[in-house]
Amino acid sequence: MSECFSHMYDEDVPVLIVGGSVVGLSLALFLALQSIPALLVERHTTTSIHARAGTFNARTMELFRQAGVESIIFQQETPSEHLGEMGLRVESLVGKVLDTTEAPAHRSTGSIDPFASPTRAAMIGQHKLEPLLQQRARELGSDLRFGTELVQFEQQVGGINALIRERATGQEYRIHAHYLVAADGNSSAVRHQSGIGSYGYGTLGQWVSILFQANLSEALQGRKVTLCFVNNVTVDGILGQSGEARDRWALFANLKPRSSERLDAPSEVYCLDLVRAAIGVPDQPVKIVSTLLWEIASRVAERYQQEHVFLVGDAAHVMTTMGAFGANTGIADAHNLAWKLALVLKKKAHEHLLTSYAQERQPAADLAVGVSTGLYAYRLPHHEQREAIMRSAEAMLMRVRKSFDTPQPTAFSVIYGYRYHSAAVAYEYDDDPLFENEPSGCPGTRAPHVWLSHNGTLMSILDLYGGNFVLLTGSAGQRWCEMFAQAAGKLGLSVDLYTIGTDQPYSDSAGSFQASYGISDSGAVLVRPDGFIAWHAPNAATRPGGSDDLFPVFSRLLGYPPSL
Ligand SMILES: Cc1cc2nc3c(=O)[nH]c(=O)nc-3n(C[C@H](O)[C@H](O)[C@H](O)COP(=O)(O)OP(=O)(O)OC[C@H]3O[C@@H](n4cnc5c(N)ncnc54)[C@H](O)[C@@H]3O)c2cc1C
Repeated sequence: MSECFSHMYDEDVPVLIVGGSVVGLSLALFLALQSIPALLVERHTTTSIHARAGTFNARTMELFRQAGVESIIFQQETPSEHLGEMGLRVESLVGKVLDTTEAPAHRSTGSIDPFASPTRAAMIGQHKLEPLLQQRARELGSDLRFGTELVQFEQQVGGINALIRERATGQEYRIHAHYLVAADGNSSAVRHQSGIGSYGYGTLGQWVSILFQANLSEALQGRKVTLCFVNNVTVDGILGQSGEARDRWALFANLKPRSSERLDAPSEVYCLDLVRAAIGVPDQPVKIVSTLLWEIASRVAERYQQEHVFLVGDAAHVMTTMGAFGANTGIADAHNLAWKLALVLKKKAHEHLLTSYAQERQPAADLAVGVSTGLYAYRLPHHEQREAIMRSAEAMLMRVRKSFDTPQPTAFSVIYGYRYHSAAVAYEYDDDPLFENEPSGCPGTRAPHVWLSHNGTLMSILDLYGGNFVLLTGSAGQRWCEMFAQAAGKLGLSVDLYTIGTDQPYSDSAGSFQASYGISDSGAVLVRPDGFIAWHAPNAATRPGGSDDLFPVFSRLLGYPPSL
């Protein structure tokens, strides 16, 4: 053991989260919902003032709905009357429109069936979302320490030891944690220290976010523009409104290599030039409020787990801003990991369950990174490396398409349709693509949304998920309930049992449950705490191994060896 860890630790916690931005805060919140109070350290004293992500998709909002923050997020989102055109490609705000067409279907976020979900995407800046997550996680018992950083850590048998520093005072202390989760962003020191490399195209460019104030009413001439892509000789980037104030805008611009500017410290004059070129008015009065430099890249970590350390969010995968998948993918990582950590920490699952985190979430990142990289090449037609970037995007997507015969993924695939193949799913067909373009109700996929009526109130079937495993059966599936209750009892686990049918307390008046979940009246579906289908039996005859004992099925899903 190194010098720094030669003393006893000062605190012992189940989970130490490093990084208190959108993904770290989401993980703290999801763990708190599973009654695991995590300790989170964030080196900044507050959450960031830069909007960065501005669209949180409907799947993310389903997860926030479970966490009890859906309505407060909708209250805080950008009012719809402030929203205008999105997705136009222009020479400048006052210049020629270059393209009004959507990106090709497989590379577009496109429009999604509004009936796919009980909720919808939220248009809210990351800077406004993070304080809401922070507040809710604290309410539920998470210990969130801002102005505090991880200095060093060391793996140990049974956990990790970490040296933590309070930045204002310099005071240091030692933490022992059963698990450390790195939500420390693109340049993750935890990932580097763990010696984890990455694959993918790598760096695509250095970008700058310029938050500025300007009265653009003359340039807009009555049009409403929320977001537009700008391509001209001076600037390639995205211009958009930032927040409610009409004069508050943001330009995300590629720092072009031909510029004489230092890529790590662009001057104010250069930033003003970029902004004015994007607007197309050379003498436009502009006040720069703040700038943020960031690397735009396309990469996925080779490993997501190193013993007791896990990577989530940008620490695990970095993608372009095209498609708006970065934060959303990270939040889904956090949701996938939280219930597994909780069950293992509560000794209700074998530690081996945790290996399914990487098996499930790495392909989901391949999918999002591949689609986002393809969109980036499509949206930046002048990029010198466009062809190479396109090829890299296709190679990334082949990891999940598996065969050239598989149709290209759509927006649905990235948002809802990533498909898990792991030991935490009972499924036999290993050669299937790792995504679907419409809900199938198969094991390894998100359990589809169906409206139910209960006690005279309309509810989504998704509102049954998020706590325990859930067993859903048709009206003639009572025997499955008995068998699962018995198997769960042997494992010391609780399962919520629901019979769904037109004449049941959870009434499927539209008659869509069985078709959506691929079962008959006598079939059953087991849904995991993250709302993914773990197992299904289309009808009463499909008993695993012909047996009434479901213990072997259930214990395998929880990571226990077959001999148990
Ligand atoms: C301009 C822009 C627009 C974007 N738009 C979208 C969008 O519309 N939709 C979308 O889904 N995504 C979008 N993204 C991507 C999204 O912002 C990122 O994916 C997201 O911020 C990643 O969150 P994270 O928590 O993983 O990492 P980060 O946000 O990078 O946070 C990492 C945190 O870890 C902290 N940290 C690092 N090291 C330590 C340490 N040793 N100790 C303590 N704390 C530490 C850092 O201070 C930081 O707060 C956009 C990004 C940018 C730049």
